[in-house]
Amino acid sequence: MAGEAVCPSAGCRFAWTDFAGQKFTIMSLYLLVFLGTLAISLLASARVKSLYHRYSQIGASSRATGAQVAAAILQRAGIGDVEIVAADGFLGDHYDPLHKRLVLSQQNYQSDSLAAIGVAAHECGHALQHQQGYAPLNLRMAAVGATQFASQVVMWLPMLFWFTHIITPYTGLALMAAGWGVIMLFNLVTLPVEFDASNRAKHILAEMGFVGTPAEMDGVRKVLDAAGWTYVAAFVTSLVYMLYYLLPLLTGRSRD
Ligand SMILES: [Zn+2]
Repeated sequence: MAGEAVCPSAGCRFAWTDFAGQKFTIMSLYLLVFLGTLAISLLASARVKSLYHRYSQIGASSRATGAQVAAAILQRAGIGDVEIVAADGFLGDHYDPLHKRLVLSQQNYQSDSLAAIGVAAHECGHALQHQQGYAPLNLRMAAVGATQFASQVVMWLPMLFWFTHIITPYTGLALMAAGWGVIMLFNLVTLPVEFDASNRAKHILAEMGFVGTPAEMDGVRKVLDAAGWTYVAAFVTSLVYMLYYLLPLLTGRSRD
C-alpha cells in the first residue's frame, strides 16, 4: 500500500498521496479546507456582529443619525447625485455605484449610535472613491460580471464532474482552479476598496466633529476593523480553495 492512493469509495478517481509527508484522500483534505475556511468566516462574522451589537447601544455625542452623517459627508464632498435610502435587513448597508444609491439598513439610517455613524461614513467612503475614480473600485466594478460567472462555475462544476464524468479530472481541476482564481482576485482587489473606505470614514468623522472623543473613535474603529476582517476571511477562503485545486495540477499528483 505504500505510496498508493487511499480511496474511500469506488467512485474516487484520483487522490493526493504523501502530501506534506502524510496521506490525505481528496475528500478528507476537502473536509479540512471546507471546515477550516468555514471556521475563519464564522469567527469573523461573529466578531463583527458582537462589536456591532455593543456599539449600536452607545450613542455618539454629536447626536447625528447615520442618514444625517451620510448627507453631511456627501454634501461636503459636493456629491449631489447620490440618493440615501433606508432598506430592510440586518447590515445590508452598501453603496451601489451603478444606481448611485447609498443604502443604509433601517437601524443605521435612524440611529445615532457609534456603529450606525461608522457604517454610514464607511459607505460614504465608497461614494467618495467613486467620485474620485479610485482605481481599485473601478477594477472591482469591472470584475463583477466575471466573478458572478466564476461563482456559478465553481458551484455547478463538481456536480457535473461527479455525476456525468464528461470532463477529465485534469480539466475539472483546471476549471475549478481558474474559477476560484477569478474569485480570489476579486476578493483581493476588494481589500484595498474596503480598508480605504474605512480609513476615509474615520478621518472624515473626526474632521467633521461627528466623533468627539478618543473613546468614541475607538468604538467606530473597532466596528469598521471587524467588518474589514470579514473581507480578509473571504479572500483567504478563495485563496485556499484555489490552491486546493491548483496544487495537484502543479505537483503532477492528479491522475486519471
Ligand atoms: Zn464597504
